[in-house]
Amino acid sequence: MLNIILFGPPGAGKGTQSEKLIKKYNLTHLSTGDLFRKHITEGSDLGHQAQEFMDAGNLVPDSVVIGMVEEKVKNETNSEGFIFDGFPRTVAQAEALDRLMQENGSAIDMMLSLVVDEEELLKRLLNRGKISGRVDDQNPEKIRNRFAVYNNETTPVAEFYSANGKLFNIEGVGDIDHIFSRLTETIDAIV
Ligand code: AMP
Repeated sequence: MLNIILFGPPGAGKGTQSEKLIKKYNLTHLSTGDLFRKHITEGSDLGHQAQEFMDAGNLVPDSVVIGMVEEKVKNETNSEGFIFDGFPRTVAQAEALDRLMQENGSAIDMMLSLVVDEEELLKRLLNRGKISGRVDDQNPEKIRNRFAVYNNETTPVAEFYSANGKLFNIEGVGDIDHIFSRLTETIDAIV
């Protein structure tokens, strides 16, 4: 099994790079943001619980997120490993993920953190908002709130993995294929 956390602020390119990584390494993509958006489209209870938090750019409560991830991991019995994208976003989520991996007889191998400055992120997100119609990507104030949430609540997650020697910072600016090469070189050097 190969289990990777792709980490970084909103707009860092986690979704784009995940799509390429799952193909190369035959992994299962687990994006909590994508799962929530699917629940919202389907009008499920979970979608209703998440929507208000997402629209404001705040985090969905840990218990809701962790329950959803547990279900997804337990259903993917034939998976060769996971790329976690947008999860964990709090230390409580990271602790829950460690427990879940352990129950599965597995572990998180590494956290790859895409490093991009905020002005570049803002530009990318506003552009994505125009194309995708994502409400949370269209309003600069909401985007700034997501950056603040990331800085306050999510960056401690990187320290959590750094303490175990599992954190690798990757320059996230430049050509998509170059960034992908930086990621794969790091993965291949560790595996
Ligand atoms: P994303 O697509 O990863 O940018 O996530 C979009 C929104 O979904 C976030 O702004 C949060 O409101 C919510 N969300 C996604 N993943 C998580 C998570 N791991 N913990 C809490 N909220 C999340």
